Amino acid sequence: MTRTLAQWQQLASELTIEGRAFIAGSYRQAADQRTFSCLNPATGQKLADITWCGQEEVELAVKTARQAFTAGSWSELAPLERGRILKRFAALIRHHNDELALLETLDAGKPISDTTSVDVPGAAYCMEWFAEAIDKIGGEVAPVDPKLLGLVTREAIGVVAAVVPWNFPILMASWKFAPALAAGNALILKPSEKSPLTAIRLAALAQEAGIPDGIFQVLPGGGDVGKQLALHMDVDCLAFTGSTAVGKLIAGYGAQSNLKRVWLELGGKSPNIILPDCPDLSQAARSAAAGIFYNMGEMCTAGSRVLIHKDIKERFLSELQQAAKNFYPGDPLDPATSMGAIVDQIQYDKVLSYIDKGQSEGGRLLLGGKATHVQQGLFIEPTIFDCPNPQLSICREEIFGPVLSVITFDNLEDAIQIANDSEYGLGAAVWTSDLSTAHRVSRRLRAGTVWVNCYDEGGDMNFPFGGFKQSGNGRDKSLHALEKYTELKSTLIKL
Ligand code: NAP
Ligand code: MG
Repeated sequence: MTRTLAQWQQLASELTIEGRAFIAGSYRQAADQRTFSCLNPATGQKLADITWCGQEEVELAVKTARQAFTAGSWSELAPLERGRILKRFAALIRHHNDELALLETLDAGKPISDTTSVDVPGAAYCMEWFAEAIDKIGGEVAPVDPKLLGLVTREAIGVVAAVVPWNFPILMASWKFAPALAAGNALILKPSEKSPLTAIRLAALAQEAGIPDGIFQVLPGGGDVGKQLALHMDVDCLAFTGSTAVGKLIAGYGAQSNLKRVWLELGGKSPNIILPDCPDLSQAARSAAAGIFYNMGEMCTAGSRVLIHKDIKERFLSELQQAAKNFYPGDPLDPATSMGAIVDQIQYDKVLSYIDKGQSEGGRLLLGGKATHVQQGLFIEPTIFDCPNPQLSICREEIFGPVLSVITFDNLEDAIQIANDSEYGLGAAVWTSDLSTAHRVSRRLRAGTVWVNCYDEGGDMNFPFGGFKQSGNGRDKSLHALEKYTELKSTLIKL
């Protein structure tokens, strides 16, 4: 259902927001009653008090998860039955689409037109996809000595903790909980303190769907909750999406504790290469703008480096600036808004400081560069820099905001060299009319996803998503994601 700004505002004013942790089948406060304020970044207004979990809540949740897992009420269900319950969960997410989208928009500043059409339906789709898949995949019978029967099976890993970021709160959570639950694990979800609301609401929907108590728990709080889970001796797997800096800490926590399986989906600085035989330069400019300005640039796959050939630069830049103007910030609750608020003050200050750095290091500001005050909130204009060389900080470091760095190249070899000269390797794109060039360049780009003549296509669950190099290990989405949440077992039977 499409609503007007006034209708969304009305709905927001009537909303009751749950802010407590969900442990062992019920919402509860922290033992020490500690809370933190959840703010709307578009207005500065407080939305709710959220439970700040501590070690006591982590201990209780892990113990409960272990018991629930061991009891077998979930892990030992027939996959068909687990799938049925998870399809109900997905259906409930769809049924509550507008409520969840509204929570996400208020909490994280994301445009309501995106949260209603991408974030929440995307999470439901992810849940449906794994629910439908789980009773259709089996193990192997090994071709062994005829005196033996050899089975190779995958079984649930046990207690899985998912620590997720704030840029796509419900969607990134679903990329973890959907495969983890489908595989039969007990899951503990730790949302970012910047955006805890949808995760907390999901817990009640999971329960309503019939997921047993202790199998889906939510622990809001700060980074310490993530750290305690990552250091916990009875957590079997830590699935993380977030920054490379925190990812490195988490890898260390795994090593310091029980060698839990640690899966990292981290940052990016993705190159978008536009060659002189680009089939449609206007389309390339529109895609490049969307590739960095969609979701305020708070995108792990943001096409934050455009590599443009010198011969087509002038025309491209003029089309790019035109396209960028479609992302002017506005009230996130207004269905016409395509760019919302920056998630919080810390992120806002970080983006503005990179804009300053871009200028002081010699970048030429082509567009934007300023904060805008739509309401009392945290809004930044779509910003484009023409960069004299690829060594500028804004060409190398992940900004995670609406700031695009344009780098000029002379020939294809240079473009590939610049593209790969990064500690990251999440996404990359190339625009060309030549089929062989497309294949040759894609093969040489060191990135987990390569787009040809498009950018950021593919909400489809069939594609594994993840990074090369310091963009992480492991893959979300697709059947490959199940590998993260299962152990391989060989069973040999002497006949
Ligand atoms: P972040 O600061 O690394 O935080 C991610 C999560 O880790 C949050 O829940 C955070 O909790 C928690 N955390 C913080 N310190 C921790 C610690 N010492 N131990 C354990 N957990 C800790 O990242 P973010 O700012 O939320 O997200 C932006 C980053 O995520 C970007 O780098 C982006 O590229 C990346 N990202 C990657 C993907 C992908 O699939 N590759 C997708 C989306 C985003 P608090 O927020 O409560 O402190
Ligand atoms: Mg918030």
